[in-house]
Amino acid sequence: MGKIRKLDDHLSNKIAAGEVVERPASVVKELVENAIDAGSTVIEVELEEAGLAKIRVIDNGEGIEEDDCLTAFERHATSKIKDEADLFRIRTLGFRGEALPSIASVSELEMKTSTGNGPGTFVMLKGGQLIKHERTNSRKGTEITVSNLFFNTPARLKYMKTVHTELGHVTDLLNRLALAHPNISFRLKHNGKQLLYTNGNGDVRQVLAAIYGVEIAKKMIPLHAESLDFVIDGYISLPEVTRASRNYISTIVNGRYVKNFPLMKAIEVGYHTLLPIGRYPIAFLNIQMDPILVDVNVHPAKLEVRFSKEAELNELVEAAIRQAFQEKTLIPEMPLKR
Ligand code: ADP
Ligand code: MG
Repeated sequence: MGKIRKLDDHLSNKIAAGEVVERPASVVKELVENAIDAGSTVIEVELEEAGLAKIRVIDNGEGIEEDDCLTAFERHATSKIKDEADLFRIRTLGFRGEALPSIASVSELEMKTSTGNGPGTFVMLKGGQLIKHERTNSRKGTEITVSNLFFNTPARLKYMKTVHTELGHVTDLLNRLALAHPNISFRLKHNGKQLLYTNGNGDVRQVLAAIYGVEIAKKMIPLHAESLDFVIDGYISLPEVTRASRNYISTIVNGRYVKNFPLMKAIEVGYHTLLPIGRYPIAFLNIQMDPILVDVNVHPAKLEVRFSKEAELNELVEAAIRQAFQEKTLIPEMPLKR
């Protein structure tokens, strides 16, 4: 008898959770991304104690059919891709089928969902074990409540920072998702207090105002650039509005917030000498490209991506920023290379 054995689902979900669910903000990210993928136009997030006590995400998306409600909590179960070809043309934010089982394995989770045809479904799980599964009356959409996050992973719980820090991660994330999806109305409440509201009318400038305030939004200028492969839209702050960290730079690729250092660097290069040393702009870039040009399957959290035409993209970003300022006549035309 060999000594290698296959881990049971329960254990493998808990291991996956270690990667997917780092902190409350990761749960919010996965749930809100699911809500976006479900075609929601209104998404509400309610937190208690920065999500350590409770996270509730309510959407008005397509809902989950009764038959799928338990499958959704199985590992690698997804409605978003079917075959290998799909993997290279990802158009949704999710595709790994890992979030729900991972989150459920390290929390107490309740889900109420309905597709709008017939009654809805209610399920409750604790530490990944099914506790309740019944029919319920609910309106179209999905409501997921996650309580006592990390109750069964004490080492992870201990690692959580203060409520203030954890809340910072959540607001940061929601701000970027709201910028990436101006057509969706987002609301974030913490301990009953509203921290963010966007009206979902599609106007990015209004989202910027909701996040940074009207005064800052007024000091941001639009940019636009296109090449055969990319379309870039965005807003960047005038050089007089800078911050001490790169945290105010948001790069969105096909609706997904991504962290990509070369891309961030390209934005700074675009500012040329307009940024004081150690200062960074507030910037929001929305980049559209054929999904074949971007590999999102780099890390379970899908924050990191790889571009197949990276140099071309970065050049376009730099040029777009220079051009936005030229139109504002802030810097003289670049001399032509001889
Ligand atoms: P993934 O998003 O990678 O497919 P998840 O574990 O996050 O995996 O979700 C599993 C499945 O459950 C999704 O593919 C989707 O069909 C369904 N689902 C999850 N959340 C929602 C939601 N808010 N609205 C509708 N369907 C959802
Ligand atoms: Mg998902």
